Amino acid sequence: MGMKLSELGEFGLIERIQARFRTPDGVTGIGDDCAVLPQNTGRNTLVSTDMLVEGTHFLRNDIPPYDLGWKSAAVNLSDVAAMGGKPTGTFLSLALPADLDTDWIDAFMHGYADLSERFGTPLLGGDTTASPDRICINVTVLGECPYARARLRNAAQKGDVICVTGPLGDSAAGLKAILEGVERDLEIQRLIDRHYRPIPRVREGEELRLNLGVHAMMDISDGLASDLNHILNASEVGAQINVADIPMSIALKHCCQRFGWDPLELAVSGGEDYELLFTCTPQAEALLTLPHFVIGRITPSTGYSSSSSGTNSSFAGLTGESRITWLGTSSPLAPGFDHFKKGK
Ligand code: ADP
Ligand code: MG
Repeated sequence: MGMKLSELGEFGLIERIQARFRTPDGVTGIGDDCAVLPQNTGRNTLVSTDMLVEGTHFLRNDIPPYDLGWKSAAVNLSDVAAMGGKPTGTFLSLALPADLDTDWIDAFMHGYADLSERFGTPLLGGDTTASPDRICINVTVLGECPYARARLRNAAQKGDVICVTGPLGDSAAGLKAILEGVERDLEIQRLIDRHYRPIPRVREGEELRLNLGVHAMMDISDGLASDLNHILNASEVGAQINVADIPMSIALKHCCQRFGWDPLELAVSGGEDYELLFTCTPQAEALLTLPHFVIGRITPSTGYSSSSSGTNSSFAGLTGESRITWLGTSSPLAPGFDHFKKGK
């Protein structure tokens, strides 16, 4: 008898899948934001894919189809940005119920095309099929970067500072407002917009790639707590985060006051901000010109139980102990989203 997926968890499942395959030498495979493939042109090709399922990732009755098209492309480009790469094109696969209105599809494609134009990523192909009732969207993105210059999750070094490119928690607060049916004034709509129309940090990622003191990098899709642990596990280090230094927007703080929400929980455990999370030397940080916030530092690894599979996996420990010490809070901070555990 196997166990239920809810016991295994999303990352346990990915590890189980990963265990059956060997990644060829010189290739970065499962476990980072993109796969990194060597080309004989002296450059690397980057590939990533992401799926959005109605009812799991979006509510058809709430999200405007334009925004859904935008977001479908944006979250994929974000994974290329997370490597410091330049996205070059996308593939779009759609499973759609037969009774879907063509106006919906036109608006969806409008949003997808606007985001694509903004970042110069043409749609290069895909697949189209019928679905019994739910909409399912899968996007694959291609990108490139100079050979061996992609920023991986396993490159954090002790003594690095830990930075993010923008405020956290807005998207999770927007989602909370949607789910709780909060009346949408301007401030609430701002948060919902951050949830529905994320901007992939492509230019920021490329600038960070040019700075050789920038070590590990990823985008924040599952939440700071969960995503930082991916970097820490892959790099076999720990981290101290100064809770007071986690950037939060005024809109987030104000809405939390109004509705009694916990801004720290939203910023730490809430996902889908799509800001970049990176580690770099203090000297490199001093030279950065792009907006960024220092939130903590990388510490030596002591006393963490390593992966059961014995691989250098970025998923190890996510089900167990966190490698993060949160300074300046007494409340325990939960990791982010797991698709099967539903534990926030
Ligand atoms: P991200 O949040 O950056 O999109 P995910 O958390 O979705 O990344 O996935 C983590 C890693 O696991 C990625 O490297 C991804 O390619 C890989 N992965 C996820 N699902 C599968 C799967 N079903 N088969 C193979 N690799 C997978
Ligand atoms: Mg990612």
